[in-house]
Amino acid sequence: MGLDAYKEKRHFENTPEPVAGIAEIENKQDLIFVVQLHNASHLHFDFRLEWEGVLKSWAVPKGPSMNPSDKRLAVMVEDHPLEYAKFEGDIPEGNYGAGTVQIWDEGTWKPVDDKTDVEEALSKGALEFILNGEKLKGRFVLIQLKNSNVKNGWLLIKKRDKGSKDK
Ligand code: MN
Repeated sequence: MGLDAYKEKRHFENTPEPVAGIAEIENKQDLIFVVQLHNASHLHFDFRLEWEGVLKSWAVPKGPSMNPSDKRLAVMVEDHPLEYAKFEGDIPEGNYGAGTVQIWDEGTWKPVDDKTDVEEALSKGALEFILNGEKLKGRFVLIQLKNSNVKNGWLLIKKRDKGSKDK
């Protein structure tokens, strides 16, 4: 997807969000993930997975859950620059996504199978992965909704494991 959509939606003279550019996160080996609480016109969580220099991103209205029974709608949105993983602050009124952004959880992630071609898995509509965050841990899956009227709709679901919670 690249960062063109991200840049087109924003006027960087008016928002403190990072300009898409070269990542400034140093000494990094593992892939990072972040969940940002975004108090925009509708409060939602933004779930982001690093892949190939960008953050693949989904807006999750109810937020991720550690309960495997919760199938959380996750709407895929434009890729964000890697630096966005560290962004917290206020996007001023009148700008795209105006409102407060706070980091809700962060850590590292990897596909369940190391050999997974993530781009291909996403294009096929299913990605199984492991999160190592403070709140979110263990196996999850993102499954694309087919034949749904939700545009770019996916489900984010916790897989049952020793960290999952039944309520
Ligand atoms: Mn958002």
